[in-house]
Amino acid sequence: MPAPQCATCHKARAALRRPRSGRALCGACFCAAFEAEVLHTVVAGRLLPSGAVVAVGASGGKDSTVLAPRLGISLRLVAVDEGIGGYRDAALAAVRRQAARWELPLTVVAYADLFGGWTMDAVARSTAGSGRSRACCTFCGVLRRRALEEGARLVGATHIVTGHNADDMAETVLMNFLRGDAARLARGGGLGSPGEGGALPRCRPLQLASQKEVVLYAHFRRLDYFSEECVYAPEAFRGHARHLLKLLEAARPSAVLDLVHSAERLALAPAARPPAPGACSRCGALASRALCQACALLDGLNRGRPRLAIGKGRRGLDEAGPPRDGEPERAPAPDAVPAF
Ligand code: SF4
Ligand code: ZN
Repeated sequence: MPAPQCATCHKARAALRRPRSGRALCGACFCAAFEAEVLHTVVAGRLLPSGAVVAVGASGGKDSTVLAPRLGISLRLVAVDEGIGGYRDAALAAVRRQAARWELPLTVVAYADLFGGWTMDAVARSTAGSGRSRACCTFCGVLRRRALEEGARLVGATHIVTGHNADDMAETVLMNFLRGDAARLARGGGLGSPGEGGALPRCRPLQLASQKEVVLYAHFRRLDYFSEECVYAPEAFRGHARHLLKLLEAARPSAVLDLVHSAERLALAPAARPPAPGACSRCGALASRALCQACALLDGLNRGRPRLAIGKGRRGLDEAGPPRDGEPERAPAPDAVPAF
């Protein structure tokens, strides 16, 4: 049976059926609709004021590729090199190709430079056998957030945009529920964060776009992206949330967006709200304890060594770092992974 006609232009043959609306569209009409929806998210949500200098967190994945050329504001690409052998180099090569294609300035910030020599590979070695090796992504998530903030400041950005899509967000909401993380659920929802405690405002313009449609868009626009999975991803808790989400989606197709919207609407009763965050005593970033997550994490990794200090609003390095060749591996202290 030939494909139906595109429901928008009534000229071309439809190339896909949109998962959410069921509309059969040709590639061109789908891309136009997708772009219009993302722009609507940005404009209606007042996510990026005109004149904003936006640091786009570029991972080489399809999500950040989708974002890069389309927002019509001043963009800078910021890529984070986590120091993951056999994975990051290829992803960074994809980011460099994107930057060249869209003629956007690219800045790469590396964990090793920002965090006193710690790479994700070194963190993984250090935590292996301590019962915390499964938490690689938890460490990485905290460090990456900090690294992106540092990179954005370095390029003079006023705002940070990340390419998280609806599936990413639904997984995060599920994970927060499964961990009973009221603090994150309480602030998790909206399309971004206003930049409390001196942090740059962040937003996620693709938060309402499904993973499937982001993939389709990248396909029809022939966007060059890197799709291999990180070597540490299989052990991540997120994988279980993703699996659970697929099961839920099979039974209820709207499950992904329902979860995203439920997080937006969630409001905790005053008594259940976690204490208002203060400032990290070391770096000044927002913290619900004496140290922010990144400083607590690095503190644990460096336990027994000179302390790693992250200067206020910029990096600060000392001679602390991962074990050097021949040195025994150090397990992080029990409090190294903050409860989030
Ligand atoms: Fe970092 Fe985990 Fe992502 Fe790998 S999968 S880059 S370890 S957050
Ligand atoms: Zn069409």
